[in-house]
Amino acid sequence: MSGPRPVRAPRGTELSALGWQQEAALRMLQNNLDPEVAEHPDQLVVYGGTGKAARDWRSFDAMVRTLQGLKQDETMLVQSGRPVGVMQTHEWAPRVLIANSNLVGDWANWEEFRRLEALGLTMYGQMTAGSWIYIGTQGILQGTYETFAAVAAKKFGGTLAGTITLTAGLGGMGGAQPLAVTMNDGVALCIDCDPRAIDRRIEHRYLDVRADSLDHALRLATEARDARRPLSIGVLGNAAELVPQLLAMDAPIDIVTDQTSAHDPLAYLPVGIAFEDMADAAAKDPAGFTARARESMARHVEAMVGFMDAGAEVFDYGNSIRGEARLAGYDRAFAFPGFVPAYIRPLFCEGKGPFRWAALSGEASDIARTDKAILELFPENESLHRWIRMAGERVHFQGLPARICWLGYGERDRAGERFNDMVASGELAAPLAIGRDHLDCGSVASPYRETEAMLDGSDAIADWPLLNAMVNVASGASWVSLHHGGGVGMGRSIHAGQVTVADGTPLAGEKIRRVLTNDPGMGVIRHVDAGYDIAESVADERGVRVPMREG
Ligand code: NAD
Repeated sequence: MSGPRPVRAPRGTELSALGWQQEAALRMLQNNLDPEVAEHPDQLVVYGGTGKAARDWRSFDAMVRTLQGLKQDETMLVQSGRPVGVMQTHEWAPRVLIANSNLVGDWANWEEFRRLEALGLTMYGQMTAGSWIYIGTQGILQGTYETFAAVAAKKFGGTLAGTITLTAGLGGMGGAQPLAVTMNDGVALCIDCDPRAIDRRIEHRYLDVRADSLDHALRLATEARDARRPLSIGVLGNAAELVPQLLAMDAPIDIVTDQTSAHDPLAYLPVGIAFEDMADAAAKDPAGFTARARESMARHVEAMVGFMDAGAEVFDYGNSIRGEARLAGYDRAFAFPGFVPAYIRPLFCEGKGPFRWAALSGEASDIARTDKAILELFPENESLHRWIRMAGERVHFQGLPARICWLGYGERDRAGERFNDMVASGELAAPLAIGRDHLDCGSVASPYRETEAMLDGSDAIADWPLLNAMVNVASGASWVSLHHGGGVGMGRSIHAGQVTVADGTPLAGEKIRRVLTNDPGMGVIRHVDAGYDIAESVADERGVRVPMREG
């Protein structure tokens, strides 16, 4: 019987599969379960609650074995983390096709999913867990950095220097906020009720200092802001108390958001309960705790709206705090927007999204060389340059060295082709796996997040991710995945992903050019179809064909 054991992707150029395309899938599957990368590798859980890379250890072993023997004209089919077939295809076809967590509409809820999961029939694939392209916390850091860069571009002349951002939640993902703000040269004031969350972030150099009190925090923040010096400050307390207090003090806050775990009312600390008693209180009386948490969220959101009324830039960061506050009866909860319609959608219109790549050699120097290539390819993009430079200095690799940055239509293919040339010339020690998050411009239907408030009301139309997966298959991606659920849960999203391997061959170059053009092209056409002007200009300028605009 196969069971839990430490897994680590091999490094170097010796192949255990019949070609680099298969080897890449094998190494990235193993890399997702590397203890440096995965949250609970013994349970095959990579990240995001229960997001898994394989359904069970037997399935994992079968996938490894199959990938090792897979020919250049064969494709392995994966159904929710289990290999279910090998079929003869052709050399342009993906070597792996993956479908994870998909359920028929009326059955697409947690209860049914859990029932089927308990029967061993499915698994939760999250976004990049079951599609083997998770690269650790760098992805969260970069996404958060990009969001704050977009806030800066929209409202503050391209920099957060001289501004103060107020937020709460320094947990697994929220902990990226302070560093993302300081990387944009701003000041971040971050509230968390858990002293360990603050200490951990300081230890990992995501947070600069801990203030002794709210007054102290505000003094540090205004001094740094006046000197236009980046600084992040942690302050201990309950956001449902401190945010209203700051509003009452007329604190000079420019930007307000929140990343407490509001999506789960049992994980949000209500006012009047000590942090130490939180777990007990939630376990003893979940219904009473939920009501109190929602009531506190209503006060928290009311204060955020107060800051908005006073002129601050306020947005929801995808944690459902507006929805929870509304459930508590606060009727202005949706007065401020979610982060996608507010800042990210214009980027999506340009086909921009989280492009990433991993060095199969295992050598950090390969990533340093690709970083340099990106800087040379896009000399005019200042925010990209700042990110790549700072990531080079501050991001510790987890598992295989990897990099993420946001690139748009007409950019990803140029980067991919350059990378393939670098592999061919021997400048890189081994091939690269080039992929992306499922959270991308044309690959998701998710009415609470990526497709919230679409211009034409098409938020829940899920044809787009299906077309995205199909076009990536047709264009020559190395593996393609189609998932349900992701970060927002069952019934709430459908999303697709692709990974394409730059192995230095001319064939890989041809595939990369098509995949990395057509994949972000889906973002452009999806937003043209919804009526976005920016997407129309991008389509016109860069030659993206949209039949309904021709003739
Ligand atoms: P987490 O559970 O690791 O951390 C949450 C933190 O909030 C904890 O440190 C906790 O102590 C703190 N907290 C809880 N109640 C509080 C209160 N009343 N006052 C102050 N602090 C409080 O969660 P996470 O992984 O950091 O994610 C946070 C939330 O952000 C989730 O809801 C997640 O879904 C959302 N999120 C969304 C996106 C996105 O849409 N792109 C990205 C990242 C996170």
